[in-house]
Order: sequence, then structure tokens, then C-alpha cells
Amino acid sequence: MSRGLEHALDRGEISAWFQPQIDVLTGRIVAAEALCRWNHSDWGAIAPQDFIPVAEEDGTIAEIGRFMAVQALEVMAGSSIDVSVNVSPAQLHDSGFTSWLEQFIGRARRRARRLTLEITEGRHIVDAPAVIARLDRLRRIGVGIAIDDFGAGEASLTQLKRLHATELKLDRALVIDDSRAATAVMAQAVDVAHDAGVRVVAEGIETVEQLEKVTSMGCDRAQGYLFARPMPRAQLARVLRSR
Ligand code: C2E
Ligand code: MG
Ligand code: MG
Ligand code: MG
Repeated sequence: MSRGLEHALDRGEISAWFQPQIDVLTGRIVAAEALCRWNHSDWGAIAPQDFIPVAEEDGTIAEIGRFMAVQALEVMAGSSIDVSVNVSPAQLHDSGFTSWLEQFIGRARRRARRLTLEITEGRHIVDAPAVIARLDRLRRIGVGIAIDDFGAGEASLTQLKRLHATELKLDRALVIDDSRAATAVMAQAVDVAHDAGVRVVAEGIETVEQLEKVTSMGCDRAQGYLFARPMPRAQLARVLRSR
């Protein structure tokens, strides 16, 4: 797989798809998350869960990450929505990605304010002061930081403050868990986030009932198959034009 990844970008096998996020109060598309897709000529479609860990290990994530950011900024140039890009901890271990992004955004500060970097596995990240300093530089030019997959992995609410996050993404696993414990965790997360001025996005919404639940609990935005699946850029453009 690593050998395949080495040439995947050059061969045009990697693309950025986009999944809309809606404002739960207006029902309008206000943002989209960029999600990486790999379509190998022989093996067909390979899921991000399978190839992202390999790309992190062999270093191709650096090139893929820049490609995804370029794609996201192009979508922003052609629309008024916010766009989020997933960033691996591996991309933050040296200053390469963040300094490239800072330069790439350049003077387009207005656009920077519509870009959010989604970060998972935060515990290892917040342990590194250098990483926090790198992210803070981007925060100062307006780039947002989201804590991804809250409720599923190691993300904790203390990371909101330490990373100066602007968004908290509740994982689908938490959203669909109707136990009292999960509901209490979610209510507290929304509270803590809103107290800190942080937006809350509910992931993996598939049913009207789930949408009603996260809306009544105060989530600001929702993302999931109920609204739309991830789609190629051209299709997103059509959806945005036709709304
Ligand atoms: P994530 O960032 O948490 O992205 C959300 C995942 O949930 C996506 O899976 C999306 O297709 C899926 N999803 C969205 N709505 C629903 C729903 O209603 N129900 C269900 N069951 N699933 C839903 P995807 O695209 O397979 O990506 C998986 C993970 O791979 C992402 O999770 C992210 O951690 C990682 N990933 C994807 N693209 C990139 C990338 O460009 N860079 C990095 N570093 N990681 C990426
Ligand atoms: Mg994400
Ligand atoms: Mg994730
Ligand atoms: Mg997530």
C-alpha cells in the first residue's frame, strides 16, 4: 500500500470529497468537511481508515495534507461556506505543514477565517508545546481549530482551552448513544464549549430523531447522511448553486 501511495497523487488517484454541514436552526448548508478519497487503478476505492495510517507512517501524509488544504481553499474561493480539513498529528510534529499553510494563505486573511483544521488524538498533541505554538500562529491569522471525534477517542474538554479551539465535533458514537451517561457527557460538552465561545458540530446524523436530539441539546451544526454523503467538489458546487 505504501508503494501505491507514493505515486497516488501524481497519478491523480487521490481526490478531496466534501460533506456538507448544516446550521441546525436554519437548515442551510454553512460548511463542508474535506475528506480524502483514494481510488487505486487495480485495487479500487480504499477507505481513509486503511490508508491514512499508512500515509502517516511513511510520510506521504505531508503531501496529501497539502493537497487537501489546497482543495479546501479552492472550494472556499468559489463559495461562501466554511471548510474544514482533517490534520493528522503526524503533520504537526514538525513545522512543515503549518508554516507552508501560513504562507499559502498569505494575505487572504478573510478566507483564513473560514478554514478550520480538525485534529484527532489530541492528548499526544497537547503534550507538545511546540505544536500548540504552531497552531497558535495559525489561530492568529484566523484559522479555526476543531477537536474531532469527541466522545470516541482520547479527546477531552481540557484540550478546547489548551489548543484555543473554535469548534468541538461530537463523534457519531456519542451522538447515537442514548444511555444516560452518554447524554450527560454530551450535555456537559455542549455547556463547556459554549461557555468558551466554541461551536459544537454533531457528526454522523442519519435520522430525524438524531437531528432533533442534537438540536434540543444545543448543537450548532450537524453533519451526516441525513443531509448528504461526502461528494466530489463539482457536485458540492452544484448543490450550493441549487439551494
Ligand atoms: P472524521 O474526520 O471523523 O470524518 C467523518 C467520517 O464519518 C467520514 O468517514 C464520513 O464519511 C463519515 N460519515 C459522515 N456522515 C456519516 C453518517 O451519517 N453515518 C456514518 N456512519 N458515517 C458518516 P471517512 O470519509 O471514511 O473518513 C474517515 C476518517 O479518516 C475521518 O474521520 C478522518 O479521521 C480520516 N480522514 C479522512 N480524510 C482525511 C484527510 O484528508 N487527512 C487526514 N489526516 N485524515 C483524514
Ligand atoms: Mg474530521
Ligand atoms: Mg477522525
Ligand atoms: Mg470525526
